[in-house]
Amino acid sequence: MFLINFRFMVVMKFGGTSVADAVCIRRVADIVKAQVERRLVLVLSAMGDTTDHLLEAGALAYHEGRVSMGAIERAHLETMRALGLGAAEGEIVPLLEELRGLLSGISRIRELSRRTKDYLLSFGERLSVRIMAACLVSLGMRARAFDAWDLGFVSDSNYTSAEIMGESWRLIPERVLPLVEEGTLPVLTGFIAKDAGGVITTLGRGGSDLSATMAAAACGAEEIQIWKDVDGILTADPRIVKNAKPVETVTYEEAAELAYFGAQVLHPRAMQPCMKTGTPVLVKNSYNPAAPGTRIVPSPEKGALPVRAITSRKNISLVDIVSTRMLGQYGFLAEVFSSFARHRISVDMVATSEVSVSLTLDTVNDLSVLKEELSRIASVELRKGKAIVTIVGNVKRSSEILARAFRTCEFLGVRVQMVSQGASKVNISFIVEDTEAEEVVRALHIDFFDRLELPESEGGGGTE
Ligand code: ADP
Ligand code: ASP
Ligand code: MG
Repeated sequence: MFLINFRFMVVMKFGGTSVADAVCIRRVADIVKAQVERRLVLVLSAMGDTTDHLLEAGALAYHEGRVSMGAIERAHLETMRALGLGAAEGEIVPLLEELRGLLSGISRIRELSRRTKDYLLSFGERLSVRIMAACLVSLGMRARAFDAWDLGFVSDSNYTSAEIMGESWRLIPERVLPLVEEGTLPVLTGFIAKDAGGVITTLGRGGSDLSATMAAAACGAEEIQIWKDVDGILTADPRIVKNAKPVETVTYEEAAELAYFGAQVLHPRAMQPCMKTGTPVLVKNSYNPAAPGTRIVPSPEKGALPVRAITSRKNISLVDIVSTRMLGQYGFLAEVFSSFARHRISVDMVATSEVSVSLTLDTVNDLSVLKEELSRIASVELRKGKAIVTIVGNVKRSSEILARAFRTCEFLGVRVQMVSQGASKVNISFIVEDTEAEEVVRALHIDFFDRLELPESEGGGGTE
């Protein structure tokens, strides 16, 4: 594995909201210019909601046989014109034509497999990197747009959620480092790759975070900066908790758990490459570059609060499986989990007793076949409409955290239906009704974050 620290290189990733229109792209160009001496590699998402718009255009072509890409075309061409990049349209127009050809193919043959969907979604990132590179060039920087497959991103063929293959650890630095050394600023598509057969794949929604951490880790970069539209990783989803605050530092494990258990801010697998190499991650706000952001580091900093952040994931099913045979616990659990593995259904939380097991999974899974299979050895009851609330923090203080969380739920009249402490030792999760999740997150946030500020303000106010 190539792990020589390439000390003078920084990977910067800008998400869709950071490159949504001409104004945003100019703002990003200023951020890039301010650090250009550090030798940069940029990784970009598609502009704004382009990925959603591509999905909509695909669905329209597939279901109604109509080709409609006016909004996508307008957004990209108008952005270029607003940035004064008319001359670079030569790179964008052929891609738009290729996209039109694809949509027209989908509309005629009415085929939209996962493989075709990945090809369709790839246009968002392929368009955005070309516009950004042209903008940086117009400002005097030696930028050049690249598709991820030209810089060593090889994935498996699990379309719509592909995994990056091991050989990319060698291929990416082989291709990227010579460019950086000769003074080029590569602007690289996030989210997409090609499989061994040369077919375009995507790494799952939000996958540009993973592309960026992979590029940084594989090249031994000094740092990776992930630029968002919020001041870093916040103590809760700002759409649920209005006064959520940026967290100064979190560990890789904590960031990964937060992402897995519902915080949209990072792709769930994004921390994996950095965990291998220890590459420091900085999450920053492109709308507010002066804010310090969140540092993601290998191990917890001393003096950190017991709880880092609270998150929730809705649309969860709770499955109770009770053995109807006199199987010992070993045989029973082995049968249950091998059934889940065969059906490729991933389980999040588990609680077991000698003859029963309760577990949670995403409601999107179709459980009918599994239920039939398990009914040979167990009775299976499925309860939908649940949510997982997760508290990420220092599980060495789990008794205190659990006591406070249970007190809050009791106060709200919310019944906790299942509890588990993650094996990674950084999360405590519990199940409540879907409809209760946001209220629970808000109340826990008050308890763990707002209350901690009371002594300070009482001390400051002083006279009453
Ligand atoms: P990008 O396009 O830059 O990848 P995303 O929209 O994927 O950005 O992720 C950023 C969004 O994640 C924020 O705007 C915020 O609404 C949401 N979010 C949810 N939970 C959190 C959290 N704990 N901290 C920060 N942002 C969060
Ligand atoms: N554009 C892709 C998405 O919207 C990937 C990303 O933004 O990271 O999911
Ligand atoms: Mg994202």
